[in-house]
Amino acid sequence: MRFPLQKARAHLIEKANTWPIVWVDTVDECAADYDERVVYTVRPTTMAKYMVGLHEIGHLHHPHTAGLVNEAQAWAWAAINSHPDFEPWRDYRLWRTLSSYFATHLPWPGDPAEPA
Ligand SMILES: [Zn+2]
Repeated sequence: MRFPLQKARAHLIEKANTWPIVWVDTVDECAADYDERVVYTVRPTTMAKYMVGLHEIGHLHHPHTAGLVNEAQAWAWAAINSHPDFEPWRDYRLWRTLSSYFATHLPWPGDPAEPA
């Protein structure tokens, strides 16, 4: 079953509300700019990329935490706000892919929010 790109793209735009989305080419470029209130994310061609987009939007909903706590909150926001129509794509492969994305975005050592 092919992932519905246009529906996922429309849902990200809806969830970003008044915050503009800048479509970037690679997952490494994905970010949430708190100062400019802009979301940078890739085109949601897969469920994992759609979740990354929701995650970046989630960051803008949690501007007052940092590090690991902030990452966890942004992923929780993404999980809660993903569209129920995309449920068939929420399988073990999705969580494995997201785990590797999460591992590359952990806070640097010495980050005050990182657990000892
Ligand atoms: Zn993040």
